[in-house]
Amino acid sequence: MVSGAELRAALRKDCPAEGMPASQVIEELVSAASAGVLGSQTGRFFAWVIGGSLPSALAADWLTSAWDQNAGLFACAPAASMMEEVAGNWLKQILRLPQQCSFAFTTGWEMAHFTCLAAARHAVLEHAGWEVEKRGLIGAPPIRVVSSSGYHGSFMKALRMVGLGSDSMRAVPMNERNVVGVRDLEAALQEDPDSPTILVLQAGEINTGTFDQFSEVVPLARKMVENLWIHVDGAFGLWARASERFRHLTDGVELADSWATDGHKWLNVPYDSGYAFVARPQPHRASMALHASYLTHDESFRDALDWTPEWSRRARGIPTYAAIRELGMIGIATLVDRCCEMAALMVEGLSGVPNVEILWRPILNQGLVRFVDPTGTDHDRFTDQVVERINQTGEAFFSTSVWRGMRCMRISVSNWRTSESDVERAVRAIKRRVS
Ligand SMILES: *Cc1c(COP(=O)(O)O)cnc(C)c1O
Repeated sequence: MVSGAELRAALRKDCPAEGMPASQVIEELVSAASAGVLGSQTGRFFAWVIGGSLPSALAADWLTSAWDQNAGLFACAPAASMMEEVAGNWLKQILRLPQQCSFAFTTGWEMAHFTCLAAARHAVLEHAGWEVEKRGLIGAPPIRVVSSSGYHGSFMKALRMVGLGSDSMRAVPMNERNVVGVRDLEAALQEDPDSPTILVLQAGEINTGTFDQFSEVVPLARKMVENLWIHVDGAFGLWARASERFRHLTDGVELADSWATDGHKWLNVPYDSGYAFVARPQPHRASMALHASYLTHDESFRDALDWTPEWSRRARGIPTYAAIRELGMIGIATLVDRCCEMAALMVEGLSGVPNVEILWRPILNQGLVRFVDPTGTDHDRFTDQVVERINQTGEAFFSTSVWRGMRCMRISVSNWRTSESDVERAVRAIKRRVS
């Protein structure tokens, strides 16, 4: 792997006074940058939770750039807007979300979350007699946020952006099954049942892919708190709903008020691609729409800017439209199933290997292992070292995480190309580097 210093040396030039031919720009760009490009397109990339690009999605993404539409308004980008309208409805069907849901195509989960939280903020404050889009948050009734402590780091950023600081958040511990503890959650909600409340649940916890017990938790929370909005982080986990084999893990998730998920992970659409879904379109639209008089609004068609944080925006629904057509609902289910099988196969292949400790066997597409220092001194450091050694071989690529205080290597399979032979090759590379 190239170092940061080497990359800087290759790419940092004086700001050019004079230009050069476009083809030369691209040739030089490729030769200077290639060493710093991760192989996340390949079937042996298991780091973070990152998908590849389906052929049609990649080609559609090139078209998106070539067409260069401003997809904020229907009038600016009629075909792109229509593809988003159609693909948004397909997504609801694939993810089995309520058909009346509104949706938004965003840059990723962060903005999808922001969109959902803005709708949530509108709804709970409206219920408390406060019009937030007009009056802002200063002087508004305080909103409390109750979340599973399994929330992804980026959630805090979304919370900040909607004007709710980290102090507004109460994180409820996860139990031994790595899901939010129902009694602990009950106790947290009980603390202040009259305040406007946003409850955040996990569909696919980042390290382990676990799901909160929606069927139990959602009705319980609704009974306890009147002014409540339930939001779900389903960045990759929501895709379990596409599969007959894994759907049961998500039972009850459809009872929430909003959901954030990604296209650039499990659907294998190129970066960046996120989706927000909101069960009640009115608060969603009220929080995002702003009808300025100079805009051309065609009421019968969908203007994306009424639903997204962005104004001018890339036509990012096009690759999603293509990906869904390429795979179909059956192909998406097969993709989900295959990734889960490959994650299980890899963990299986590492079972019983000296110095490998299995921390989490996949229930979905995520597994956790750590490497046990033969000298018995520092397992965390040894784990980091082994992962680095594996990555240096170029045979496979992994990232580390911290789970229950332990440094571990996460095995995350979300690429459409990952095959059995990829897994076998990765297992061989791991075995060789751990001993
Ligand atoms: C990846 C991930 C995020 C962040 O999503 P991006 O769209 O990639 O920024 C949030 N939550 C979970 C559970 C994730 O896996």
